[in-house]
Amino acid sequence: MAKLFLVPTPIGNLEDITLRAIRVLQETDVIFAEDTRVTKRLLSHLEIQKLVHPFHAHNEHKSLSHAIDKIKANNSTVLVSDAGTPGISDPGFLLIREAIEQGIEVECLPGPVALIPGLVASGFPCDRFVFEGFLPHKKGRQTRLLAIEKEARTTVLYESPHRLIKCLKQVVEFMGADRKVCVAREITKMYEEFQRGTAEEVLAYYEAKPPKGEIVMIIEGKK
Ligand code: SAM
Repeated sequence: MAKLFLVPTPIGNLEDITLRAIRVLQETDVIFAEDTRVTKRLLSHLEIQKLVHPFHAHNEHKSLSHAIDKIKANNSTVLVSDAGTPGISDPGFLLIREAIEQGIEVECLPGPVALIPGLVASGFPCDRFVFEGFLPHKKGRQTRLLAIEKEARTTVLYESPHRLIKCLKQVVEFMGADRKVCVAREITKMYEEFQRGTAEEVLAYYEAKPPKGEIVMIIEGKK
């Protein structure tokens, strides 16, 4: 019976791939990837020789029926994104939903994802939290910031280094200078860094030392 596996891949440190992820990648009939070049590099590191088919974010709607046909025609298909877990701020959701609707078995392997190590090492409560993904750049951004201001649970965001200063300024503006935040940068990589403090302190730090790399921002819930 046709099965779709969602296989998380490392977010920076190649040692973070699981033994099961390697076996599933070795055994699968078909691999769909967000960017075939990125996945081919990982497969070559793992010494796996497989054809990789593109499954892009910008054509997820268009690719859907073709991908479903291919999944049905094979025993096992894997979907990977460039890094982390497919479907988490990456393509995957539409394919997963359609596969379930079509009676295809779907299994997600546990594995790398940026939000969990960011949240857990922030030191903020992680028994209940809200994941906001990337905030919209313009339309709808203010509404989301106002909702986070009122949120009692810890909020986790993905942010680009170019927009981190703007985001921290908006936390100060919407939630107050004393709201506690944590910026988790380059998780699992050589220059991993956690900056914890009030929004004002962390903003001052990054204004003096402009951030580079990948960022998860964690905002403490409203007291
Ligand atoms: N699917 C991925 C996951 O499972 O986390 C997320 C993909 S999303 C396109 C990329 C964003 O995730 C980055 O802009 C950053 O906000 C976050 N991210 C990914 N890797 C990271 C890392 N090593 N350190 C900090 N943030 C990371």
